[in-house]
Amino acid sequence: MSGAVTLTGTTPTEAVLAPFRAQAGRALMLGHVHPDADVLGTLLALGQALEARGWSVTYGGPHPAPAALVFLPGVERYQRLHTLDGRFDVAVLTDCPNPQRTEGLIDQARRAAATVVNIDHHPDNRRYGDVNWIDVSAAATGEMVYELLVGLGAPLTPPIATNLFTALHTDTGSFRYSNVTPRTFRTAAALVDAGAAPAFVSEWLYERRAPDALRWLGEALARVEVSDDGRLAWLALPSGSVPEKFIESEELVNYPRSVATVRVACLFRESLGQVKVSLRGKGDVDVQRIAARFGGGGHRNAAGCTIAGPLAEATRVVLAAVRAALAGTPEAPEAGGSAR
Ligand code: 5GP
Ligand code: MN
Repeated sequence: MSGAVTLTGTTPTEAVLAPFRAQAGRALMLGHVHPDADVLGTLLALGQALEARGWSVTYGGPHPAPAALVFLPGVERYQRLHTLDGRFDVAVLTDCPNPQRTEGLIDQARRAAATVVNIDHHPDNRRYGDVNWIDVSAAATGEMVYELLVGLGAPLTPPIATNLFTALHTDTGSFRYSNVTPRTFRTAAALVDAGAAPAFVSEWLYERRAPDALRWLGEALARVEVSDDGRLAWLALPSGSVPEKFIESEELVNYPRSVATVRVACLFRESLGQVKVSLRGKGDVDVQRIAARFGGGGHRNAAGCTIAGPLAEATRVVLAAVRAALAGTPEAPEAGGSAR
C-alpha cells in the first residue's frame, strides 16, 4: 500500500497515535470472524476511550460476540455487520492478521474510512492497513492497546480496564503461557489498579458453565486420542456429537495438550461440511506453519485453520502434516510449558 506506515516496536509512535488525536471524529471498530476476547476487549476499550473524547464509534464485524463474553463492558454495542453505512475517519482492526478474516468488510472499510489502522501481534500479519502496528512480542493485542491509550493520555476507566484485562487473561491462558512477560504482568497490574477485577473476570470466564456442560465435557473427553509415541493427541468431534454452544464455551484443545508427553495437540470440529482445526504446540514445532499450509494461521504455539470435510479425511491429512513436522524433532520429550 503506498504511503503505508509500519511500526514493530512496543510503544506506539506518533504515526500510530495521530489518527486518534482529533477531538471528535467517527471511528469503526472492526472485528474479524468469530471474535474472541482479545479482539473484542481491545476494540471496546479503544472505542470507549474515543467516545469519552466525543467521538462517535461503531463496533461490529462479520460474526456476533460470543455469549460467553456478555460480561465485557459495552459488548452489547458490538453488532453483526453486513454492509457499512456512512463514512469514518478511522477504521481499526485488532488481532486480525489477514484482511480476508473480515469476510469482505475490510474492502468496504477501505472505501468508507480515511485511515485503516491495523494493530496486531501475529507474526504472519499481512500489513494491510494505512497504519500497521505489529508487535509480535505482545502476549495479547490488549497489551498494545493499553500502550496506545497511555500514549494518547486517555483515562483508564473501570470498563476500559476490564476489557483490556480480559484480553490479556484469555490470550495468555490466564497468565500461564510462554508469551507472558514481565510487561504482561505490569500491564495487568495497571489495569487492576484502574478497576479491572480479576475474580470477576475469572468467574465469568471459568465458573459459568451450564448445568449440563460437565456431561458434554465427559462426552467430548472420551474421544481424546493419543499417538503411540505420546507426542500427538487429538480430539475429533463429529457434527451433532456435542452442542456447538458447548464447544464455543470451552477451550477443548487444552485437554489433549495437558498430557505431559504431548508436543502437539489438535481439535477437529465438524460443522456444516467444514472442519475447524485448532492446533497447539509446546515449542517444538511451529504449528502456525502447519495451519498456513491449510490456508490458516496464528502463532507459533497456537494456530488454526478451516478445511473441507469430511471429518475423518480432514483429521487424517492434518495429523499427517503434524507427524511430519514432529519427525524432525527429538524423540524423547520432556514435559514443559506451553504457549499461545
Ligand atoms: P483457535 O484455535 O483458538 O481458534 O485459534 C488459535 C489461533 O489461531 C488464533 O491466534 C487465531 O487467530 C488463529 N486462527 C484460528 N483459526 C484460524 C484460521 O482459520 N485462519 C487464520 N489465519 N488463523 C486462524
Ligand atoms: Mn490475540
